[in-house]
Amino acid sequence: MRTAEVVDRYISAQLPNPELYPRLHELVVKHMIHGPCGPRCMKDGKCSKHFPHDFQEETKLDEDGYPSYARPDNGITVTKSSGFVVNNRYVVPHCPNLLLELNCHINVEVVSSIKAVKYLYKYIFKGHDSAAMKIVDGSVVYDECESFLDSRYMGSAEAVWRILGYELHGQSHSISRLPLHLPGEQRVSFVDAENEDELRAAMEKMSMLMEYFELNSRDPKARELYYHEIPEKYTWKKISTSGEPTKMQWCERKSHFNVIGRMYSVSPTNQELFHLRILLNHVKGAKSFEDLKRVDGQDEPCQTFTQTCLELGLVKDDKEWEKVLNESKNYH
Ligand SMILES: [Zn+2]
Repeated sequence: MRTAEVVDRYISAQLPNPELYPRLHELVVKHMIHGPCGPRCMKDGKCSKHFPHDFQEETKLDEDGYPSYARPDNGITVTKSSGFVVNNRYVVPHCPNLLLELNCHINVEVVSSIKAVKYLYKYIFKGHDSAAMKIVDGSVVYDECESFLDSRYMGSAEAVWRILGYELHGQSHSISRLPLHLPGEQRVSFVDAENEDELRAAMEKMSMLMEYFELNSRDPKARELYYHEIPEKYTWKKISTSGEPTKMQWCERKSHFNVIGRMYSVSPTNQELFHLRILLNHVKGAKSFEDLKRVDGQDEPCQTFTQTCLELGLVKDDKEWEKVLNESKNYH
């Protein structure tokens, strides 16, 4: 579904049809109309909230992810008691369900771009609350010279926090998500399926798991680690060697960084993959899928990952119960 269609599902900037939705229509007119503009919103001769908006047939999102909502010129108007005529150009974006539920002014907008993250981060870095005022004998005195110097208000809790030298914000670990897949079933992505070169390049791309086996083949230190420990010491990086196309590879970390590796979870009903996951949690240093199926360095690998888990005693099968039943049959 297009993003604009998702927006239209939850957010409206239109007057509802009064015959089909009388209650909603009444609430939109009561709470969600901006206008006529006055001294509260006007700045430099323009409305600071950009009202009235232009008519527009459908919702559009610009390249930064900011929407301009559908405001069709459909002839639905309302005349307010002041004589002000309202049409779709004056409706504040809202969520009809919320409006019906809560019966008050609630402006709802879409936030879908990366800028939302910047917006949240701003609060960490923008500094303290400041106030420029002084109270002498119970009345507020405004000293222009003094207000020129930035004054700062700090509560006792924050003051203690700073005196003790604690961090003002913290960052925890980052999680490196490790893919799991059976041999030849890694995820492949390409844009143009017609383009054979692109397809071939996509098929040849190594997954994190395949590269983990390669890493074990070339780096003895990596063989000391389980798959999920690899991101602590190695980083998944783009490598370019002259003459060859760039590829992703596990490279040793130069500096310590708080990273935890986690494999995707697998349902036990997906048997082989589930057992592959168990093996990766218990076996270090495998150099290939086949290698992972070798129990105690035997030449002949097991047939399946499930079989290998059974051989290693990591899982149990139903044989135990069969034995018990046979035994009691013989006994009786
Ligand atoms: Zn205005």
